[in-house]
Amino acid sequence: MSALTAWLKQPQRSVPVLVLAAFALYPVIRPYDGYPHGVLGLGFLLGVQAVSWNIISGYAGYVSLGHVTFLGLGSYTAALLGARTGLNPLIFAPAAGVVAVLVAVLIGAVVLRTRGYAFTIITIALLFGAQIVALNWKGLTGGGDGVTLDIPPWSRDIQNLPFYYMFFALLLLTLAFSAWIRRTKFGAGLLAIREDEGKAGVIGVHTTRYKILAFGASAFFIGMGGAVYAYYITFLNPTGAFALLGAVTIVLSALLGGRGTLWGPALGALIVTVAGELATVYGGGANSRVLVFGAALLLVVMFLPQGLLPTVEAWLRRRRGGTVGYTDQAGALVARAIVLDRPRPPAAPDAPPLLEVRGAGKRFGGLVAVDGAALTVAEGSVTGLIGPNGSGKTTLFNLITGTLRADAGEVHYAGRRIDRLPPWTRGHLGLGRTFQMTRLFRGMTVLENLVAPLPDGGWRAMAADAVRGHEADRAKELLGYVGLAALADVPAGSLSYGQQKLVEIVQVLMTEPRLVLLDEPTGGINPALAERVVETIRDLNRQGVTFLVVEHNIPMILGLCDRVTVFAQGRRIAEGAPEEIRTDPVVLDAYLGDTPPEPAPAEGGAR
Ligand code: ADP
Ligand code: MG
Repeated sequence: MSALTAWLKQPQRSVPVLVLAAFALYPVIRPYDGYPHGVLGLGFLLGVQAVSWNIISGYAGYVSLGHVTFLGLGSYTAALLGARTGLNPLIFAPAAGVVAVLVAVLIGAVVLRTRGYAFTIITIALLFGAQIVALNWKGLTGGGDGVTLDIPPWSRDIQNLPFYYMFFALLLLTLAFSAWIRRTKFGAGLLAIREDEGKAGVIGVHTTRYKILAFGASAFFIGMGGAVYAYYITFLNPTGAFALLGAVTIVLSALLGGRGTLWGPALGALIVTVAGELATVYGGGANSRVLVFGAALLLVVMFLPQGLLPTVEAWLRRRRGGTVGYTDQAGALVARAIVLDRPRPPAAPDAPPLLEVRGAGKRFGGLVAVDGAALTVAEGSVTGLIGPNGSGKTTLFNLITGTLRADAGEVHYAGRRIDRLPPWTRGHLGLGRTFQMTRLFRGMTVLENLVAPLPDGGWRAMAADAVRGHEADRAKELLGYVGLAALADVPAGSLSYGQQKLVEIVQVLMTEPRLVLLDEPTGGINPALAERVVETIRDLNRQGVTFLVVEHNIPMILGLCDRVTVFAQGRRIAEGAPEEIRTDPVVLDAYLGDTPPEPAPAEGGAR
């Protein structure tokens, strides 16, 4: 009980609970308020749509402008099944949800394989396509004449009351579903897709599958809502069921309340519904809605780009003066040696190379960035990759991890050819990397960044809790090792550059990698943090993780690596032990200059 009161003391929890309780009780207290019941019921239905829309368009960032299609599909499914069977159409609400999901998954499977705007355009086409089909497939839908449903059997005195509760229950279910998704690895992956889809793929997020699932998930409760709605209005026709205004209203609600938040879209839906009703009553009929909603959409985009909830939250935080001095580096000095859950067994001395690149090529227009490059990395080693700027090191990393596709050559890893595999599959095989310019998900917290990676391709991993439970514990533990535990709940974008570099390394560790590619891990960061990075590499290497490190800090490379490969102009010009490389005339000529550099001393005599 005391746990419950403590939980309720937080306003972000108690306020929604109180508001929902008030909505639940209102018809009990005033059972004959038919007109407000109707208006609020439709507000809940719009809430169902906006909260659902938010799963694909808020969490994953893929904006749908045709989401009302699923409402129409649900309505028609329930109405037609009801008419054919003579049963109450409400019975077919789950079937209506399933039909909506099937259509979403089919469309998604085609259009969500690519990135970008194609999806948005297809969703508009989906809306009008559905309308055309409903108009012309007269045998099924009755065409423009529409479908008429039986009137509900209950008393006219409480006409809208059952609908009020049905829409309300659907809204509660949708909110619970959305909250659950947001808590899972799946949900963290959706945010990652919104922030940086390419990076999400590299940390093991099967982006295509995630997007299709999110689109499907965003259709289910709208389809069910459509079934109830059909019974509520008792008449369906194609232009009413698949109306552009309905689609715009969903987007307006979510943007107004706060896209990407849990409660925002529901809040926006209620405001938009009540405002729309007022505009109809006092402002010259239903046609004025189009004008009002269009203007409102414009105003929201201009003056409330974050939406109401996030704006209010930010305002409250500012009033409490609640930002911590989290870029303070003091907390960063209590790092401990990192300990892996599962250390990797040492490699057999005669094992084949863990990574082997043969004849890799990549051009950008007329520019040859990688030109028949070769590279081998032995299991258990720390291998260095050095060379002048523009010699193709980063591009080679992109070819190895699948961020870019090679024009020529082969990449073999752990005994299989991987150059045709998508990035997430390579990630699931234990191939991890960091980026030269860090690519954390800047709008997500540090902790969310760490729970987004998916170590394997299984469904159970996707449904696992991310925000708490084992994943979150592990993430906090890893943050502790690098001395950044205090920053778990801070947006990643507000960290110092060096801290971002460390977090990106820890993020890779969440995928339990076998080989990690580090692209200039100490570039542009202060010496203390650079030392921390080097220690972290040594700790992990001792536990069996193999590294391929690109760096311009030559003393560091010479002190850290077992083998060094030198690149110039897109290909390998030398390969050998550090002491051979530092005096190799070819390397001195192409990169190091006249005097051979000295290696940095190995701290603590490791390796
Ligand atoms: P390095 O990491 O060794 O400094 P890069 O692999 O970043 O080298 O770049 C190799 C060459 O390819 C450079 O000339 C660079 O300008 C070019 N390049 C890299 N990425 C792209 C890209 N996406 N589009 C066009 N040119 C690129
Ligand atoms: Mg580079």
